[in-house]
Amino acid sequence: MNETVFLLLGSNLGDRGALLDEAARRLTGTPGLTLTAASSTYASSPAECPPGSPDFLNRVLKMECSLSPLGLLDITQKIETDLGRTGKGTNAPRPIDIDIILFGDRILRTERLEIPHPRMKRRPFVLVPLAEVAPEAVDPATRRPFADFIPPESLQDVVKCEEPVHDR
Ligand code: AMP
Repeated sequence: MNETVFLLLGSNLGDRGALLDEAARRLTGTPGLTLTAASSTYASSPAECPPGSPDFLNRVLKMECSLSPLGLLDITQKIETDLGRTGKGTNAPRPIDIDIILFGDRILRTERLEIPHPRMKRRPFVLVPLAEVAPEAVDPATRRPFADFIPPESLQDVVKCEEPVHDR
């Protein structure tokens, strides 16, 4: 059975736009995953990161998925590692970060995987690109539209980039 999943790609190290493109290419080439929409690329200053961290680029992908949630996490984590990500959980600059933000209407709370992503509602850099590809998306727990969680003043902090975005 296919379910609609939303992934957040993020990069704040290296050739960030090219890394987002490469992660999207690898995901699209994975059996069991079909890309149906991609948001624009957005830039935002780093939140919850050490001082001096470079700006983030983020993009949301909408995909049809026949994998299990943990099967998808295995894939996203392998792509993160293959694209040069070393440390986890430190909020240190990283070439690529892939978060599973929504997986159909599922609500999962396990040690390895939480869906919806536990911090998405307070992160405009997730909500703004999500609203571009799925303005109708709702929180499966409350049925409240995620777009309602975007503080209007945050719109100036999440800036749509002109494509293609290249650092060198
Ligand atoms: P991060 O450093 O933000 O990429 O966090 C990675 C850790 O979060 C990994 O240990 C994952 O198992 C865990 N995790 C929990 N929920 C999610 C999710 N929805 N998407 C991606 N990683 C998740």
